[in-house]
Amino acid sequence: MPTRKTPDTAKLDRIVAEARRNRERREQDYREQALKIYPWVCTRCAREFDRSNLQQLTVHHKDHNHDNNPPDGSNWELLCIYCHDNEHSRHLDSAGRKLESSPEAQAVHQPFANLRSLLKNKE
Ligand SMILES: [Zn+2]
Ligand SMILES: [Zn+2]
Repeated sequence: MPTRKTPDTAKLDRIVAEARRNRERREQDYREQALKIYPWVCTRCAREFDRSNLQQLTVHHKDHNHDNNPPDGSNWELLCIYCHDNEHSRHLDSAGRKLESSPEAQAVHQPFANLRSLLKNKE
């Protein structure tokens, strides 16, 4: 494999900058749309926002896929920066890794386990 003595960092920088610009433009885009669709209120703590503090109101993607931006807003949720932080840290372990199954998913399975043991007692 040939090794280049002078890596083309300028080109790389340009690509990185371009990608960042695209992402920022896209984020700006769906945020504006979400703010048009939804009232300026945090979905979790019901804190209300106006133009003076609107930068603290962020758009959360329900499925955590930032590329999934349906125009009807069904994948968006307006959260204040604190609730947004919370929302994401629930899905991370202490090392910041993404968990395979969230505590929510495990909680959903719990009632069925109880139900099964209840049925067993009845028999
Ligand atoms: Zn909040
Ligand atoms: Zn989010």
